[in-house]
Amino acid sequence: MSKVPEMFGCKVFNDQKMQERLPKSTYKALKKTIQDGEPLDLSVANVVAAAMKDWAIELGCTHYTHWFQPMTGVTAEKHDSFITPNGDGQVIMEFSGKELIKGEPDASSFPSGGIRATFEARGYTTWDPTSPAFVKDGSLYIPTAFCSYTGEVLDKKTPLLRSMERLSTEAVKLLHLLGKTDVTRVITTVGPEQEYFLIDRELYNQREDLKLTGRTLFGAKAPKGQELDDHYFGAIKTRVAAFMKDLDEELWSLGVLAKTKHNEVAPSQHELAPIYTTSNIANDHNELTMEIMKKTAEKHGLVCLLHEKPFAGVNGSGKHNNWSISTNTGENLLSPGKHPEDNIQFQLFLAAVVKAVDEYQDLLRITVASAGNDHRLGANEAPPAIISMYLGDDLGAMVDAMIEGGEYVSQGKERVQTGVDVLADFKKDTSDRNRTSPFAFTGNKFEFRALGSALNIGCPNYMLNTMVAEELSQFYKELCTAADVEAGVRKLVKRVFTEHRRIIFNGDNYADEWVGEAERRGLLNLKSLPEAFAHFMDKKNIDLFVKNNICTEAEFRARYEIELESYSKQINIEALTMIDMARKNITPAVSEFVRELTETALAKKALSEAIPTSVEEELITSLSNKLVCFVKKTAELEEAVMGAGEYKDDGLAYATYFRESVFSKMQELRAVGDSMETETAADYWPYPSYYDLLFGV
Ligand code: ADP
Ligand code: MG
Repeated sequence: MSKVPEMFGCKVFNDQKMQERLPKSTYKALKKTIQDGEPLDLSVANVVAAAMKDWAIELGCTHYTHWFQPMTGVTAEKHDSFITPNGDGQVIMEFSGKELIKGEPDASSFPSGGIRATFEARGYTTWDPTSPAFVKDGSLYIPTAFCSYTGEVLDKKTPLLRSMERLSTEAVKLLHLLGKTDVTRVITTVGPEQEYFLIDRELYNQREDLKLTGRTLFGAKAPKGQELDDHYFGAIKTRVAAFMKDLDEELWSLGVLAKTKHNEVAPSQHELAPIYTTSNIANDHNELTMEIMKKTAEKHGLVCLLHEKPFAGVNGSGKHNNWSISTNTGENLLSPGKHPEDNIQFQLFLAAVVKAVDEYQDLLRITVASAGNDHRLGANEAPPAIISMYLGDDLGAMVDAMIEGGEYVSQGKERVQTGVDVLADFKKDTSDRNRTSPFAFTGNKFEFRALGSALNIGCPNYMLNTMVAEELSQFYKELCTAADVEAGVRKLVKRVFTEHRRIIFNGDNYADEWVGEAERRGLLNLKSLPEAFAHFMDKKNIDLFVKNNICTEAEFRARYEIELESYSKQINIEALTMIDMARKNITPAVSEFVRELTETALAKKALSEAIPTSVEEELITSLSNKLVCFVKKTAELEEAVMGAGEYKDDGLAYATYFRESVFSKMQELRAVGDSMETETAADYWPYPSYYDLLFGV
């Protein structure tokens, strides 16, 4: 394994390769763009493009592609070869600065939320030099941003880059006010922990629901689930370990800092966590990680499920977005230090986050809303749908003391005594972990835990960055005129903590009492996507993004329309898939099993009236009754789907209809189906069971 340092990043055009392959002046100019955001001129781009191409060809590439993140939720690519005719029937391999900087994919087939009329189908992709290019499957991949012909933002990367810029500008201004004049740039960092399921491919292929929707729409519980807590951190099975090894190696070669791997709570569920990096790169790397997970699984005869809730009755999958802010001088601005009570810089940044989370709790809820994640939030596994934040006992006590004017004594770092001589005693962390909080302070960063496993992390991060940037800019306005900055900060911080204390909750977020308590505090409890999206277009939210130049009101509305439409479409597909499975497979299978039972009973009777047939008869009666109900519920679901048309013109009403009238019918149909599965012989049931799927690897 001494080879890891050599193979790490071998497929990435990283800083080391730039230094090796670019003339000094080109390297310097490019670095200025990457680090300070200075515009890049074409002559520099030409040199960079040629060097990238030569390097990619050495690694066997024939093509390049601009790689972007449209509003579909998945990445997009369109490959062009390097070939250029040289006039005598031969070709040479070329790649110009213009091709590196700008691409022109047809934008008409990507969601735009009505922003762009189809006759203006042209779209542009622009090179993002802050995220390194890499080589994969014979192509040179160039991370890019995506916009329309008229410049409207059509992707998830542009707002993220803009939000990082905004936060940096505002944070630097404040730091200068506090005397930190050496800071020129502030960077947001993210470490996204990724959960996933691995199941056997042959079994997957037999399930129409998994293939079409990513989750099981029917499926009775297996006799065993996660109740023994024996999977979490359990020994990793050989086949899974082989997958994880391949995955790590592939990710390392692509420069992804894959660090931690372990089994998760549910059977067949696992997690991968990378080491954190700059938000933009973390976002690109997370998209890559999800893609490589799927591809690597295929090589091992497995399928990687990234859906938030592939199986009912066991935990779903999430993504923990660990987020922090640091300076170009290497200081983490969310690090409390030994004496947070005296650290006004920390208090100021903490106050900005507290204020942001309270004022924009609706946006944080919205940004993690999806058809898949609706199954997790509010259920007893993921954080609840109520957004609150955990500061821990120590910081919580500090905030209380600041509000009430009492004295705060730092608990310092006590030592944990193991009580066993051969085991070393060690210092314990100042705060314990609260696993139930949606937004938890964990030492020197916040962990936003409500993200779904399939989500592109761009959106939650640009929203988070923007709301914090907004608070910082308000703080700056107040403080820049203060005669005594330190006194001004103390006053401001005390006021902010007092006004936003309601968002801090250090208790158990799963407890029933919290729901009532949160309501008394006036916190929102938005249980589903349509409920959350009813707040999307609130004036304060539009103002936030427009004022901070993240997007225009039209672009913001486009995002709203796209997400709502995608939600409705997904539920529609799920409903149609259920109807298909019910009619074509489940109903005939149960009917067939009933026929078999009837034949058995009749045969027994023919042999002798004395042979008891009560078992068959009871089953025949039970299954026949359930089947009648099942067929009726199938028809009701179909009717519900047909009724959606009339709401189509209003995205929110349409989505609400799907949630209230279609989804509820799906639940009813599933309940009857699952109950029939428990009474039907395995040979007759048309789909692999939960037992097969969850314990089949
Ligand atoms: P947990 O205990 O929450 O399961 P870990 O401690 O293994 O998780 O993972 C925490 C994640 O937080 C890692 O991805 C880590 O790199 C990331 N992280 C640590 N420090 C920072 C930071 N300053 N900014 C962003 N992410 C960070
Ligand atoms: Mg975590």
